[in-house]
Amino acid sequence: MLECEVRFLKGVGPKRAELLARLGLRTVRDLVFHLPRDYEDRRTVARIADLKAGQKAVVAGKIVVVNFRPTRGQRGGILQVVIDDGTGLLELVWFNVRYAWQNSFPVGKALTAYGEAGFYRGAVQMAMPTCQVGVTPAESEDFGAILPVYPLTEGISQKVVRKLTRAALEAGAAQVQELLPPELLAKKGFPSVGDALREAHFPRSMEEAGRARRRLGYEELLVFQSALALHRAQVRQAPGIAFRVGANVDRRIRRLFPFPFTRAQERVIEELSADMRSERPMHRLLQGDVGCGKTVVAVYAMLAALAQSTKGHQVALMAPTEVLAEQHYLTLEWLLERARVRTMLLTSSAAGTRAGNLHRIAAGDVDIVVGTHALIQEDVRFRNLALIVVDEQHRFGVRQRLALRLKGVRPDVLIMTATPIPRTLALACFGDMDMSVIDEMPPGRKPIQTVLLPPERWSEAFQAAVEELKQGRRAFVIFPLVREDEELDLTSATRGHEELQRGVMRGFPCCLLHGQMTPEAKRKAMQGFRSGRYQVMIATTVVEVGIDVPEATVMIVQHAERLGLAQLHQLRGRVGRGQVPGKCFLLAEPATEQAHERLAVLTRTSDGFAIAEADLRIRGPGQLFGTAQSGLPELRCYDFSDVRLLEEARRDAFALVEGDPALARPAHAPLRQAIWRQYAGRFMLGGVG
Ligand code: ADP
Ligand code: MG
Repeated sequence: MLECEVRFLKGVGPKRAELLARLGLRTVRDLVFHLPRDYEDRRTVARIADLKAGQKAVVAGKIVVVNFRPTRGQRGGILQVVIDDGTGLLELVWFNVRYAWQNSFPVGKALTAYGEAGFYRGAVQMAMPTCQVGVTPAESEDFGAILPVYPLTEGISQKVVRKLTRAALEAGAAQVQELLPPELLAKKGFPSVGDALREAHFPRSMEEAGRARRRLGYEELLVFQSALALHRAQVRQAPGIAFRVGANVDRRIRRLFPFPFTRAQERVIEELSADMRSERPMHRLLQGDVGCGKTVVAVYAMLAALAQSTKGHQVALMAPTEVLAEQHYLTLEWLLERARVRTMLLTSSAAGTRAGNLHRIAAGDVDIVVGTHALIQEDVRFRNLALIVVDEQHRFGVRQRLALRLKGVRPDVLIMTATPIPRTLALACFGDMDMSVIDEMPPGRKPIQTVLLPPERWSEAFQAAVEELKQGRRAFVIFPLVREDEELDLTSATRGHEELQRGVMRGFPCCLLHGQMTPEAKRKAMQGFRSGRYQVMIATTVVEVGIDVPEATVMIVQHAERLGLAQLHQLRGRVGRGQVPGKCFLLAEPATEQAHERLAVLTRTSDGFAIAEADLRIRGPGQLFGTAQSGLPELRCYDFSDVRLLEEARRDAFALVEGDPALARPAHAPLRQAIWRQYAGRFMLGGVG
């Protein structure tokens, strides 16, 4: 019954089935797990005399006045219905309704309504309430209860979804399999899954709804976290390389860096070294703000991996874009000037024939290969790949493929991310990895001044930029991606380039950088900007402006309201990397007070973690990283508002897998099957099947 399609439910024809499909509701199971986004408490009837503005309430009374006023120039009008409940009068209004509608409200009849009370011209009023005529609250199933409010799509009403959900629950709730092992169920004091589903949809109290939702969220998290736990066990089970990272090696590596490491870097280096010395393959995530010195630490790890020259170890360093790969390559060349390390940049535009390069890698004639994530996707063959460093920036696309790759070889893996990941999400996405955090900037870094400007003050940003340009400094102007539409995106940046070059930026050479340029053209633009031939770089966000240009002091972001906070924070990290403090101007047209508040966070703090937390709270996890790339599974019941629940599920899942590594106990069979069904394609689950 659960897998039965919705169109077999009473009241669902082909058309409604299609609308439901738009909400992702195809089967009875989908309906049953489609939880309300909110509830309306319609249990108690309020006295009209007690109503306060803003209060949502049920009212019931007799109809005393009905009045229709046509709206000029339109077919409909405003309908006013006044009811009397003995304590007072209340006006109900509907806008834009037909004349004939008033016939549904005969004076003298009983009326029950639910809506939000407001004040209009000094009197209490309820606009656009839900109502029923001819019934008292006790006589209707729409009142006297807590009703679910579902996410909807056009053409389908709450009433319909409620009815279908009721039907689906009656038909299917009892058949939903209990995934939680009985022991856990008892320990947590959770309701059974069938009860929880019924209570989450049609609760008798808000506490009951909360409890039911917690249980359903927990179950979902337990399945996911158990998959992570199995994956982790699997990755670590087979032995990897035990590198020799002793005092000698350490001393030799340190000599290459022109500065002492920060305390945070020292701590992370210690963590990495311990991982590398151990025979268990390293599987570590390194987090920290742009510019905190992650790359430097990664270089330390790379050198440590290469330290025993007789072993012929190789390292792969992967970046999300060619621009960033090149940047890393240049950093390496600079740092490794005095080291005997053979590095190669392998991108579509890099020098040398590709075949020849591939051959050198396979023959072991290269120590460090720098490239994009394609290094792994295209299965470049290494002679002896010992360490993979992945610079994820803010995309999280690579790890699944990485997992597959790991089936064959067992190199150590270090993933760097410049988007500080809120703890909640880090646990959820990367629960299978160890975590290191650099939470300290190298000395001398000056804070970036961030200013949020409304449209009438945008010109101030350009004036400030021109002042800097006059002193020989450089500036970025960013045009964000417009609705994932690369064409539009391109036009706005191209037009922006022309306008700026002819207008305010006249006399200062500008270059353009966008995602659709050839790699060659991109490199030219980048090099030109770095060398100072261009003073202004006009770029889209398709290209992460991952360039390190110490002379760049100004960042202007157009339509900042279209970008996530984390992304904006990352962008502004590109200026003020030299002696002169950076300035960042966010040109925004926030539509709402809330949108404005969101951007204002950036003017108040430069703590990437605080910013990421704010972004997660306001925009949700999908928005933070882009849903498809977030590495997050689709969670239907858990909404990331309850961190404790996630931690609890994670602890329980890891304990469960620790005690029963193949989930072979009969009590774990349903859980095992659920994990397999949902995560077999994403994780290595070992012998669990
Ligand atoms: P991230 O990879 O986190 O963005 P990088 O490793 O690229 O940061 O470092 C950013 C800049 O700071 C680089 O120019 C680097 O040389 C410099 N840097 C890193 N660590 C230190 C340090 N301990 N002291 C001084 N400068 C440092
Ligand atoms: Mg870096």
